[in-house]
Amino acid sequence: MNKRTFLKTSSLMVGGAFLPKMILANDTPRTNWAGNLRYSAKQYFEPQTIAEAQELVKKTPIIRGLGSRHSFNSIADTPATQISLKSMQKVLSIDKANKEVTIEGGATYGQICKEIHEAGFALANLASLPHISVAGACSTGTHGSGVKNGNLATSVRALDIITANGDIVSFSKNENTEALKGAVVALGGLGIVSNMTLALQDTFEMKQLVYQNMPMSALEKNFESIVSNGYSVSLFTDWRNKNVNQVWLKKRSEDVSTPDTEYFGAKLATRNLHPLEGLSAENCTGQMGVSGPWYERMPHFRMGFTPSSGKELQSEYFVPFEHGYEAMMAIEKLHEKVSPHLFISEIRTMTGDDLWMSANYHQPSVAFHFTWKQDWNAVKQLLPLIEAQLAPFNARPHWGKLFTMNPKKLQSLIKPLPQFKELLATYDPKGKFRNPFIQQNLY
Ligand SMILES: Cc1cc2nc3c(=O)[nH]c(=O)nc-3n(C[C@H](O)[C@H](O)[C@H](O)COP(=O)(O)OP(=O)(O)OC[C@H]3O[C@@H](n4cnc5c(N)ncnc54)[C@H](O)[C@@H]3O)c2cc1C
Repeated sequence: MNKRTFLKTSSLMVGGAFLPKMILANDTPRTNWAGNLRYSAKQYFEPQTIAEAQELVKKTPIIRGLGSRHSFNSIADTPATQISLKSMQKVLSIDKANKEVTIEGGATYGQICKEIHEAGFALANLASLPHISVAGACSTGTHGSGVKNGNLATSVRALDIITANGDIVSFSKNENTEALKGAVVALGGLGIVSNMTLALQDTFEMKQLVYQNMPMSALEKNFESIVSNGYSVSLFTDWRNKNVNQVWLKKRSEDVSTPDTEYFGAKLATRNLHPLEGLSAENCTGQMGVSGPWYERMPHFRMGFTPSSGKELQSEYFVPFEHGYEAMMAIEKLHEKVSPHLFISEIRTMTGDDLWMSANYHQPSVAFHFTWKQDWNAVKQLLPLIEAQLAPFNARPHWGKLFTMNPKKLQSLIKPLPQFKELLATYDPKGKFRNPFIQQNLY
């Protein structure tokens, strides 16, 4: 139990029944990771077992799952009750024959990757940080990069979800394929994910090479080649001087012998770098072509260290892959307004998928990410400008980051929204898991 948050262990009376051994937050305000959002939830619980979680869900009228609190908007908040499965974070089993891992619903990537690697396997992709919970990340369509890699939710083969009446419903690729497409990126709206099964591949080693200062003009003719040359490629820019500050190439170790010293005009870095110039590269995963296991190279940031800047805000927009360069230039036109408020932008790619609420639904995408200085008044003036610049490309926002898009516009961009709402109505007819974020953006 984290003493700093002054949580009390308590029994709670809900609907006439005692729920034992739960942790009940007192009035101490709790915030998301970045500290830009104070949760409004009046009650917060950390059940110790699935049975306790089921009992709590059954007896509580309005409830919301909380992961590792890394979302920047109010997607995980509710004015009523939050439930965290952080007491349930284990790898339950690794099925070597079917190449699958089953984990508990509160696990973070950082907690499961080493064990998966030691069993001889790897996950297909990871986000920039391993600190996030798997359930929370998949719920919002969190992604890494790579023209051949789907977002993290595409690895999900099966889910157990505690639904509104407290029962566990299993969704799986083999049994209810269609429903699983709606259940994986469910924005916390379907219930509490208690177990997840993820696809694995054979383990591998990776090397990370960082190049500095690529003229944006190099991307005009070579966008696809530049972002495809590696397992995962990230471009970092502060939008100043039509320059890409850093290019991070993450490759399978067997694909790198002697690294090229130049990459489309950018120069190979001679020391480890942080994407935010001036911050210590100690927080970052190994670079300089040093080979390491996949889970210590795919994320940019190391477990046990602060990822990114810390005191920040984030936004991100997805556009169809074929519009990558055009969309980049549309944002570049705003550089004088954007750069002063920005720590750094990152540009990544991902394949299309068939997950109903995924921003990559049936669409290979390029994602434009913004790590902002923590000044919401300034950022909220800029987001509508960026959204207007990207509107011709039908850009969609990241579910876990800050955006200002009109809900009607957003809804018009989600083709399978009616199916998703039908799924919610089936398992949560009274809107037990619906919060103001879902209400405002989807209804
Ligand atoms: C420093 C930093 C770096 C980031 N890098 C990336 C990146 O590289 N790529 C990217 O795409 N995003 C990135 N993000 C965004 C982040 O990955 C997403 O916001 C993600 O959803 C956070 O997961 P979480 O576990 O913190 O979930 P939370 O923020 O706690 O919750 C997110 C959603 O998941 C739901 N949820 C959580 N747990 C459960 C559960 N057990 N059952 C049901 N619903 C649940 C919540 O209700 C909510 O709807 C970054 C964020 C930060 C702070």
